[in-house]
Amino acid sequence: MKAIRIEQPHQVHLVDLPTPQPGTSDVLIQVQASGICGTDVHILREEYLGDYPVIPGHEFAGVVSAVGAAVTRFQVGDRVAVEPNIACDNCRNCLHNRQNYCLNWQALGVTRPGGMAEYGVAPEKAVFDIGDLPFEHGAFVEPLSCVLHGVERAQVRLADTVAILGAGPIGLLLLQVARLRGAAHVTMVERQPTRAELAVAYGADAVYRDLDDLERDGYDVVIDATGAVPVMVHAIDFARRGGTVLLFGVPPAGAAMTLAPFQLFHKGLTVLSSFTSVRNSYQAVALLQSGQVDAAGLISHRLPLAEFEHGVALMERGLEDVRKVLIQPQA
Ligand SMILES: [Zn+2]
Ligand SMILES: [Zn+2]
Repeated sequence: MKAIRIEQPHQVHLVDLPTPQPGTSDVLIQVQASGICGTDVHILREEYLGDYPVIPGHEFAGVVSAVGAAVTRFQVGDRVAVEPNIACDNCRNCLHNRQNYCLNWQALGVTRPGGMAEYGVAPEKAVFDIGDLPFEHGAFVEPLSCVLHGVERAQVRLADTVAILGAGPIGLLLLQVARLRGAAHVTMVERQPTRAELAVAYGADAVYRDLDDLERDGYDVVIDATGAVPVMVHAIDFARRGGTVLLFGVPPAGAAMTLAPFQLFHKGLTVLSSFTSVRNSYQAVALLQSGQVDAAGLISHRLPLAEFEHGVALMERGLEDVRKVLIQPQA
């Protein structure tokens, strides 16, 4: 099969590999759609966890093409998406329902081969039936799961005012989920005009170009969806007293930031981070299938496997009309 392999930081190749065989409890998936995530870019740039060489791609969906002998929920031909985070279910954290902090954590596309290939293997427990959901939307099961977990952590409540910094695909998923949780008013900050327009189309009440346009001390919940430290550092300025700040975007590993401790104290802020998800994939599939969360408008590019690097370059340049870049390994 053809696969994209990050050999070492900054070096990626299209390679020919034997098609993997599923183990006893594994599912072999013919990948139809595989989203490039900021995390893939971080892995390529040595700004994240991960082992090299690695086949990147942790946001993918496809068709079951073989199953191991012990697999019971799937058969060849099923349409599925994966939950790339593989917990051991047998360590202290897993046994305490904190599977995202599994002491033996593995992830497809990070520590194990991922979905930027014609075929990928996942343990049955990490595979979800998507029925007739388009594969392109199935590729959003993982990012949406993370968003659902983040919004649960921030406990967005009925009638809350929410500010979301950044209207990329993740910001727009956060917007939709905050709405579903009952937020009365969602303000977004986005510099790029096309993304700002899209935020309005997805139901943002206000979209500002600049952080300076946001009301200081104005929002019940402030969510950073940029992972950009110069933005993250200001998130606490816009939370109201007693409010919550969720640092959702992934910053480069090793980055540092300075927060004003008196401001944290005086405003009594709850500052949270959010790492992956905990059992949110089922919800993600259901919300995409029901149309409560829309993924169609979040996709801007569809590229063949050989253009993975081009896709990364599109994202890194942060041009106008780059939203989610999907790789179609069968194209
Ligand atoms: Zn991702
Ligand atoms: Zn574990």
